[in-house]
Amino acid sequence: MFGRPGSRLVAGANRQRCFSSSSRRSADFTHVVIGAGAVGLAVARQLSARPKTQTLLIERHSTVGTETSSRNSEVIHAGLYYGHNSLKTKLCLEGKRMMYDLCEKQGIRYMNCGKWIVAQNDEQWQALVDVFYFARSIGVPVHYALQKELDSEPDVSAKAGALVSSSTGIVDSHGLMQYLEGAFLDNGGDVVFNTQVTGISKTYAGYVIETVDGEGRQQEPITTETLINSAGLQAVNISNMLLPKTRQLTPHYAKGTYYSYSAPMPKPKRLVYPAPIPGHGGLGTHLTLDLSDPPRVRFGPDVEWVDDPTDYTPNQSRMEEAINDIQSYLPGIDRDAIEVDYCGIRPKLGKNSATAGENFQDFYIEHEEGYDGFVNLLAIESPGLTSSLAIGRHVDQKLYGNE
Ligand SMILES: Cc1cc2nc3c(=O)[nH]c(=O)nc-3n(C[C@H](O)[C@H](O)[C@H](O)COP(=O)(O)OP(=O)(O)OC[C@H]3O[C@@H](n4cnc5c(N)ncnc54)[C@H](O)[C@@H]3O)c2cc1C
Repeated sequence: MFGRPGSRLVAGANRQRCFSSSSRRSADFTHVVIGAGAVGLAVARQLSARPKTQTLLIERHSTVGTETSSRNSEVIHAGLYYGHNSLKTKLCLEGKRMMYDLCEKQGIRYMNCGKWIVAQNDEQWQALVDVFYFARSIGVPVHYALQKELDSEPDVSAKAGALVSSSTGIVDSHGLMQYLEGAFLDNGGDVVFNTQVTGISKTYAGYVIETVDGEGRQQEPITTETLINSAGLQAVNISNMLLPKTRQLTPHYAKGTYYSYSAPMPKPKRLVYPAPIPGHGGLGTHLTLDLSDPPRVRFGPDVEWVDDPTDYTPNQSRMEEAINDIQSYLPGIDRDAIEVDYCGIRPKLGKNSATAGENFQDFYIEHEEGYDGFVNLLAIESPGLTSSLAIGRHVDQKLYGNE
């Protein structure tokens, strides 16, 4: 079943027991990672670098990164929104540094274009001031836009002012994932596509994983000493396969629709975000650029609570509202040049806020109590792409400690 060219077959013989804290016998694999999105790939690459271990990455689709990791804004976030002592702040800051470094070293396309957060009134300005003090307190460079900077973007409305974040950028998420997959395989990792995890049970030696292939045929069970659940929108369902009823959760999903823009103007040179709204499920319908030459403008994503995590049909009915939001900071926008483009869906654990404050949902990354070797990654929404490399390291530390 491990049929991907270049991947190695199960190599049980030469494996040293690296996972600590018990004397279990070895299984087919030292590590199994479920889900080949940006985060699962980063975790798999990190774990596969451990000598004398064997890591398997299981993905239900035919290639890497076809779900949330290819349906986002590709922004390398600065870490401005997630409050003190949150995993999102810690991993976003670490991840941002690691991401710029990796892109530079490995030739992955990126652009450190910076971003503005703009305010149109006193209330929004106050939100920017809060972001400013928070950013300064954690060492993230920000400054209030000077008049000459505001003049350099005449199409952008910032009636009450703008906050400039110089460390924000964008990354080619596909290039990143291609690199991570290659590095994982180079480390001797195995990847198996068209394979969906359908059941998990705990044994004395670790975990037994049931899977079906693309045609729904049951496959040989896979055994592993450690198991990392990085299944994105399905991660709560995977977790519920293993944890007892009292620890089961209900998944929530927040769809975000993107809009393309076909007119040549206005075309700002950096990302533009509205002031954050406390308690909101996202960061507001913002303007991002892509890495084409010249960069294309796109807008989004908004927030729409949905029940179906597989329905990627963009919701046309929300366009009017989105355009009104966009026009608040880009008044000269040509409304007729905006079209619905694509969607992404955020994995959530409730109708929570994406930014610090009341009802804030942090990343949930736990080495589950009573489930030695099982690391659960839930609600890995934004800034999950930015944080992916740091999450890989964090999961390694959860399993092995700070060696
Ligand atoms: C609209 C939107 C905008 C965003 N913008 C940004 C941004 O600008 N910057 C940023 O840093 N982050 C952003 N994010 C967040 C970022 O995209 C995610 O945090 C990140 O892509 C999550 O990666 P992942 O690997 O956890 O999940 P995914 O990419 O969803 O990968 C999970 C994988 O698990 C597989 N899987 C699921 N169930 C099974 C199963 N049973 N068996 C086998 N495989 C399975 C899936 O097929 C999938 O490939 C955004 C997210 C959204 C939705």
